[in-house]
Amino acid sequence: MPYYEGAPSPDTYPSMLSQYVREHNENALYHASILSQSFVERGLGPDDIVAIHFEALEQVMKGASNRDQARAIADAHQFLLEVMIAYGVRFKEYLELKMRESIHEAELRANADRQLALEAQQAEQQKSEIMAMISHELRTPLTAAKGNIDVAITLIRRGQMERVGPLLGNAQQALERLSRLTTDLVEASRGERPMLSLTTLNLTPIVEQACRWVHAAAASKNINLVVESHTEALPVRANADALLSTLGNLLSNAVRYTPNGGGVTVRSGHDDQQVWVEVRDTGIGMSEEERERIFERFYRSPQARTMDGRGLGLGLALAHDMVLAHEGQIVVESELGKGSSFRIVLPREATTATEMVLI
Ligand code: ADP
Repeated sequence: MPYYEGAPSPDTYPSMLSQYVREHNENALYHASILSQSFVERGLGPDDIVAIHFEALEQVMKGASNRDQARAIADAHQFLLEVMIAYGVRFKEYLELKMRESIHEAELRANADRQLALEAQQAEQQKSEIMAMISHELRTPLTAAKGNIDVAITLIRRGQMERVGPLLGNAQQALERLSRLTTDLVEASRGERPMLSLTTLNLTPIVEQACRWVHAAAASKNINLVVESHTEALPVRANADALLSTLGNLLSNAVRYTPNGGGVTVRSGHDDQQVWVEVRDTGIGMSEEERERIFERFYRSPQARTMDGRGLGLGLALAHDMVLAHEGQIVVESELGKGSSFRIVLPREATTATEMVLI
């Protein structure tokens, strides 16, 4: 059977039927046969054609006398027969089309199933990596604390008290780290924005305190820690502990992800509406893709893992939650291999310095 380019749309069925009923000419019958092509192309089945036919017939008979209606019905059936004969020849094509469609759909479903299975497998793998990371992180300070205490006990038994103090100091530091880690884990598992009690306070002493925390770590890596001190008060409504831990996190990251001899600069300032503090480093930096993921819980970039084996990838997720709880935001800029800057922006509180709680 010949194939006609641009077979007429099934929408033309009523007008063709009406033409045939009026004129009974060969041309209309010829059109009936090529209409079957468009039915096949559009995947319409015999039931659809019959439905289209009777709808069209109703239109054709509208307003006609009873006699004309009877004649129209007979003619219309002749027309439908022509369409069906031509359609029958093409029916194999129709079945093949339907078959191809269902194979395609089955393939799509199989692909979607494969994708789901892959995602489940990845999630499972991620879970075991996280568990391994958590147990490693918890074991390290525990082992350090236990080791130091064991040696201290031995020394006490021998009466060598002079070395006991530093060993207990080490054990205490390790246990403090353990305590911080468990607090982070508990916070992270809540998965919701923390409820904080806020007071009006000056951000500057908090920045200074956080800098004192990382001072020793920076010095041990020969990192030039510059704090551009701000003489003006930076009034915010905030929770001092939350801000201190958030800034401590940013500063500790800056020092950890900056190679020996690099630099970390802390600046702060304000305008009429906002107060900001920025931690900028000359460290490993991040790619665009990494930058987009750093606030996810447990995310650590491959480079960060290589540079510093310690870390749960929770600090920034918690920092982000904390800053949101202050109605603020964290703005990150970074260039791979060049360095990063993390800027916390908080709404400025309209108050005078004397009303502020100082820490
Ligand atoms: P952790 O430092 O324990 O891995 P964080 O949540 O604090 O967890 O940071 C998540 C990740 O963000 C880090 O593992 C690292 O990939 C990236 N990151 C954070 N701070 C910096 C920084 N200053 N420079 C480069 N990468 C950083």
